[in-house]
Amino acid sequence: MLFRLHLVDYMGHCSARIPGTDHVLIKPRHSLRIRSQDRVGPADMTVIDLDGNHVSGAHPAPGERFIHTCIYRARPEVQAVVHTHQPMATVMGVGDAAILPVLHVGGELVETPVPVWPCAKLVTDAELGDELARALGAHALVLLQGHGVASAAATLPEAVLQAIHLEQLAEANWRVLAMGRQPRVIPHEELHQRASTGVGWEVRWAYYRELAGIESQ
Ligand SMILES: [Zn+2]
Repeated sequence: MLFRLHLVDYMGHCSARIPGTDHVLIKPRHSLRIRSQDRVGPADMTVIDLDGNHVSGAHPAPGERFIHTCIYRARPEVQAVVHTHQPMATVMGVGDAAILPVLHVGGELVETPVPVWPCAKLVTDAELGDELARALGAHALVLLQGHGVASAAATLPEAVLQAIHLEQLAEANWRVLAMGRQPRVIPHEELHQRASTGVGWEVRWAYYRELAGIESQ
């Protein structure tokens, strides 16, 4: 889904805690075999522990597995983490430009400013992962400046949708700035009205599944 929406290419990865364990199911590291993410299937997946050690699976875990393990360690309620190199949100991070709630769908995600971690290193050890997790704090999203985004949620669909909505919001902000205008920030009351009377994320998830060509269950 993220691949077909151009939020990831061969890089970027999703993971989920395996319920009741200290293990994490994660998309494997890209390689000559693991390339386009819409061709990575269940049999390709890798399992690691919260120290980033390989537990099972034919392929190694991503070098940046510490984005995932360190967030899971810091946030026991988080069950899924998505790391993307999504272009518009990343560009807004590079420019230190605020992603404001200018669209009513998903706007509540950015009512509190998305934190920015000012570091473009690959997150290849627990020290960097802990730094990133501290920057994320209790937020749902964090911008890795000059690099990408990490999204954390109680379910994988929510972590994915947060990344999708952040990209839409980033693009809307960018377009308004490109017009030389200042965007209208949607007040909390209007966002709340949309959130409480609109459909839940399950419906949006079903839509994006269909868009990505995934058959309904
Ligand atoms: Zn990355």
